[in-house]
Amino acid sequence: VIGMPRGDKKLGEKKLIQRIRRAAGGGNSVVAGIGDDCAVLRVPPGHEMLVTTDFTIEGVHFRRDWHPPEVVGRRCLTRGLSDIAAMGGEPRAAFLSLAVAGDIPQKWVDRFLEGLLGLAKEFRVPLAGGDTAQSMEGIQADIVVVGSVPKGEAVLRSGANAGEHIYVTGELGGSAAALARLMESKAVRAGDSQHFRPQARVAVGQWLRRRGVVSSMIDLSDGLSTDLAHICEESHVGAEIQAQAIPRARVGKTFVDLDFALHGGDDYELLFTSAAAVPSEVAGVRVTRIGRMTRSSGMRLIGADGRRRRLPASGWEHFR
Ligand SMILES: [Mg+2]
Repeated sequence: VIGMPRGDKKLGEKKLIQRIRRAAGGGNSVVAGIGDDCAVLRVPPGHEMLVTTDFTIEGVHFRRDWHPPEVVGRRCLTRGLSDIAAMGGEPRAAFLSLAVAGDIPQKWVDRFLEGLLGLAKEFRVPLAGGDTAQSMEGIQADIVVVGSVPKGEAVLRSGANAGEHIYVTGELGGSAAALARLMESKAVRAGDSQHFRPQARVAVGQWLRRRGVVSSMIDLSDGLSTDLAHICEESHVGAEIQAQAIPRARVGKTFVDLDFALHGGDDYELLFTSAAAVPSEVAGVRVTRIGRMTRSSGMRLIGADGRRRRLPASGWEHFR
């Protein structure tokens, strides 16, 4: 399934495919992986398939002068794993299509794969196929993650009801705040921000689904205000959240501004609704109640002064 680029098969590209093939490994769900025309996947009896696809584009999602290649690889796969997490699913296999311009050093690609495959190993998700090609300029990667969930149990965005609690995992705004610092030409060390090591909350998503305590869920890729608006829209309800309750991330030792936590994307935490009281820690991850769903439509933010104001959905735009 890992195909060859059209034209000359350069040694580097051959090596790349061999490398992926060696490192990819198998898994219970992969009947046949790299080396045939298609991968053959086995879904456990009584399960439904989940499929998600996400771009990682140089200049849009990362910059080579800001992001080490391993981080780009990790973040690329995290985008897919996080979508599976948001459905309460189990990731089963990943597929990578990678287009790289001729002037990109082989070393960069090797390190990108190291990051991606290292994370795949952590989650026991085999890389079961993909494609490589030469791009006109820069690097473009597309990750596909296939997962599964017991029939009828996928957690959708459309299940929220008025009166239910709104929860988030982890801390928010760290990724956008780190990017903002980089844009101001300030240094951000890798250890200073989750931006460089995002965690797909697969175990949390599964725990919530198994316990039957989650009515709707989404992963925070566009930012809290935008992703909460998606739940409101799909569930035909409104929401109000308390500014002071939102768990803010830190960059270094400094807590990020509220705006980053409200509107900053790329945190890959989970946002979900529940009629039940959910523990403050699930699968080792902090869980915080930030508000409730309302019958009246639209979103409102309750400030420290107790005043309600309209909360617009304003998502994060990468690097702009
Ligand atoms: Mg998503």
